[in-house]
Amino acid sequence: MSQDVVLLGGPGAGKGTQAQILQRQFGYRQISTGDLLREHRNNGTELGKAAEEYMKRGDLVPDALMIDMVDGELHEGESVLFDGFPRTIAQAEALDALLDTEGRGLPEAVYFDIPRSMLEERLLGRWTNPRTGRVYHEKFNPPKSAGLDDEDGGPLVQREDDKPETIKKRLDVFQAQTMPLVDYYDARGRLARIDATLAVEDVTHMLIHAIGLEHAH
Ligand code: ADP
Ligand code: AMP
Repeated sequence: MSQDVVLLGGPGAGKGTQAQILQRQFGYRQISTGDLLREHRNNGTELGKAAEEYMKRGDLVPDALMIDMVDGELHEGESVLFDGFPRTIAQAEALDALLDTEGRGLPEAVYFDIPRSMLEERLLGRWTNPRTGRVYHEKFNPPKSAGLDDEDGGPLVQREDDKPETIKKRLDVFQAQTMPLVDYYDARGRLARIDATLAVEDVTHMLIHAIGLEHAH
């Protein structure tokens, strides 16, 4: 099986949607730091409590907390799709070091290219199954029955941070703190770019191609 992949892109670019598809089709493990933090928050752990205020405001949770959390999630013999991590240069450097310690080599990064105006529209219509992390969009990717998950029938919710003021903040934070990672991976020869404005299936095809999986299925 192939190696670790970083899905890089603004909030709402479709990283989680694609990670879930590749996890199913290719046996990757999705590590979504946003989903993990929400789980910690719901379980009332120390980390969850420490992260809550940052998340509510649309700010990034401090690097040291994030790096520790991801370190605790890595296991031998798996290929990971990192979804929402790294989000700062410090996190990217720490990830390279963690993977290196485990003899795993540098990850491949794929940048989901999409204009900001489309991200807002996607986030405003997003509905999530909080149990599984599966995402829908009321217009672009609706569930079969409104408000209910296709798979387990569970209720879908809108995220607390998917409201206009917080979305604006998250997009600003992305631009300032995460966009520099495009150059970081490009400079190391580890970056592919895909057009994330296309329909879900088309983005999947491009992603599969970008990470060299087209012969694997
Ligand atoms: P991210 O994980 O990057 O924040 P998501 O995968 O949660 O993004 O997608 C954000 C929203 O956009 C969701 O409502 C999802 O259903 C929708 N979406 C994802 N990919 C596409 C696409 N290619 N076209 C239209 N809508 C999409
Ligand atoms: P997401 O589900 O990826 O949109 O993340 C939701 C929120 O969790 C973000 O707005 C941040 O507050 C926090 N978060 C998730 N991943 C990270 C990360 N790698 N670094 C810092 N904060 C993060």
